Amino acid sequence: MTPGQSILRGPVQYLKGVGPRRAERFAQLDVHTGGDLLYHLPYRYEDATTVDPIANLKVGQDATVIGRVVSKGVIPTRRRLRVFRAVLRDESGHIECAWPGRPWLDRTIDKGDLLLAAGPVRFYHGRQLQPREHTVLARASDDGGTDGGTDGGASGERPAAGRVFPVYPATQGLTHRQVRAVVELNLSRLLAELGDDDPIPRAWLKDLSLPPLAEALRTLHRPPGIDRVEPSQRRLAFEELFFLQLLHARARARLRHEVRGVAFDAPPTLTRALLKALPFQLTGAQRQSWTEIEADMHRPMPMNRLLQGDVGSGKTVVAALAMLKAIEAGRQAAIMAPTELLAEQHQRTLGELLGPLDVEPVLLTGSVTGKARQDALQRIGDGRARLVVGTHALIQSGVDFASPGLVVIDEQHRFGVEQRRKLRESGQAPDALVMSATPIPRSLALVIYGDLDLSVIDELPPGRRKIRTAVRGPESREGAFDFLGEQLAAGHQAYVVYPLVEESETLEARAATVMFERLQACFADFTVRLLHGRLSSAEKEEAMRGFLAGDTQLLVATTVIEVGIDVPNATVMLIEDAERFGLAQLHQLRGRVGRGAEQSYCIVFHGTAEPSERLLAFEKTSDGFKLAEDDLRIRGQGDLFGKEQHGAALLKFARLDRDHDLLEDARRRARDIVHADPGLKKPAHRALRHELDVRYAQREALYQVG
Ligand code: ADP
Ligand code: MG
Repeated sequence: MTPGQSILRGPVQYLKGVGPRRAERFAQLDVHTGGDLLYHLPYRYEDATTVDPIANLKVGQDATVIGRVVSKGVIPTRRRLRVFRAVLRDESGHIECAWPGRPWLDRTIDKGDLLLAAGPVRFYHGRQLQPREHTVLARASDDGGTDGGTDGGASGERPAAGRVFPVYPATQGLTHRQVRAVVELNLSRLLAELGDDDPIPRAWLKDLSLPPLAEALRTLHRPPGIDRVEPSQRRLAFEELFFLQLLHARARARLRHEVRGVAFDAPPTLTRALLKALPFQLTGAQRQSWTEIEADMHRPMPMNRLLQGDVGSGKTVVAALAMLKAIEAGRQAAIMAPTELLAEQHQRTLGELLGPLDVEPVLLTGSVTGKARQDALQRIGDGRARLVVGTHALIQSGVDFASPGLVVIDEQHRFGVEQRRKLRESGQAPDALVMSATPIPRSLALVIYGDLDLSVIDELPPGRRKIRTAVRGPESREGAFDFLGEQLAAGHQAYVVYPLVEESETLEARAATVMFERLQACFADFTVRLLHGRLSSAEKEEAMRGFLAGDTQLLVATTVIEVGIDVPNATVMLIEDAERFGLAQLHQLRGRVGRGAEQSYCIVFHGTAEPSERLLAFEKTSDGFKLAEDDLRIRGQGDLFGKEQHGAALLKFARLDRDHDLLEDARRRARDIVHADPGLKKPAHRALRHELDVRYAQREALYQVG
């Protein structure tokens, strides 16, 4: 086959049934070539193999039927409710379907359409189906394509029962049925050209009991039965996971071999002094993480490590050890926090921790201005600032470190990938330690941060009391406020947290202010303060200092406290409208209490009629990693990080809850290959290299971040 004739690599426009106009629509779906079309897979299937013959339907049954629309119309009822009705017929008989209150369906469902409908069968002048869902499987008017190879009507007439209908991602001006028709017209030729080509070696597929590529694609486009779908999906998932892990492995290898880092090998003067001065022993998990970090820092390659640990697991001490290690080798260390509030707290905590060792943290944030800023910049530039604490202000131009050695990046999922890239671009290659208090499932960490090495602190310091968590409805609010009052009267402090109501900070501030006034009236004997994102940094600082000092007993806040505050005397965290928060956020908030010796409480109000599954999971478990797994299961991977995190969205085929075994396997194979052949130059790896270049080049750009 000559390249000129390749329909796999050729533009989708020249496939049967496409043409220039539809090609533009396909481009919207990221389908540009014939090969792209092959990989444009159904996102669900309508299983027509289990439909009920219409003649057999019984009142009271929940049924799925497929039939042609033989008549239809909108009928007004006495209560001014307009009902769309359509009569469906299959070989066995006919039935009326009714959609109360949905007259607009009259515009989307036509006579002659082949419809799948599912819902309860009711008694209303005879049997009537009230569809909960419906799908137009084929249109009377469907055109099979510009060349008229088949027409949609004809393909719809093929026995519907006994088929599994693929439903494709569609877009404006290109329905899923049109996509399906185009696939039908071209699938055989595309698969014929693909032949036995498969980027994944046969031997691996045998190990994993997965079908070869062509077979998997054929099955996914035209499943002979619904049970055949999943193994084929896993085949595609494996391929995707493997190539992403290959990208990660290469990014990691490149970093290790091409960028020169610092080998920190001075005598452990400061680190040893800190370990001696600590009033406690490191936990086993802290010690393990510190050992891993220390080993990384000894090596001349730049460290790129993620330190994950639940709230309160003691990451700060471990980070402090790492920073001291850089400092004792004569280098500078920096720690970047996502907010000024947190940067300021790091400065205080580290100041207390390291002050006795004569290491004084220098603060650089957006609100350090004028003379103080000049001074900080100068100390950073001439090396007198050995430890710098700041926000993203640290990596803006005009900030030049004399001898950068280590940067610690706190709370990476709001912050991190971009920062690491910027650091790299600035020509410096300091060691990087990314810290996260947001436990994420290992599978997701491997996908998003696969280029990082992973250390996990999965153990809390001994003697911590479990925080009592209760999920309550509005009827319990009074009782909860009474309890809050008791805790305050006993000399403790408390938080009340409201979710960000709107994207707008102004609205958020207003909502928080209204609540604040109500609470102030409610707890008139105590000092109540308001903390929200609209306050100036000085006002925030002041509100926080008041709470830290114990002058304020009740802090009413929006999520700005999420990462900000560490007050051991606080024993109650009350969260309103809790379903607006993700599980990870809720867990973060809960971590603000239980930091002292007293029993602490987390009271969570659900704003909906019933508490969600998510909130019940939160009530049951205090283990952040377990919650993260629950979140992944309940919300699905796409939702886990929202728009903040492109990593999870990169997955088109893999489902982390289902495919984690494949992920581990793919990671192992990818690392082995890159270890043996970093450039993928050996003949055996040429196909992999080609596949990476052709299909994953774009994604590779996203991973040039290390
Ligand atoms: P994280 O940043 O992981 O949420 P921190 O580093 O703030 O946790 O630690 C929480 C608290 O636990 C701090 O007061 C810290 O001094 C204390 N701590 C840390 N490690 C230990 C340990 N091994 N034993 C006892 N207390 C510890
Ligand atoms: Mg911390």
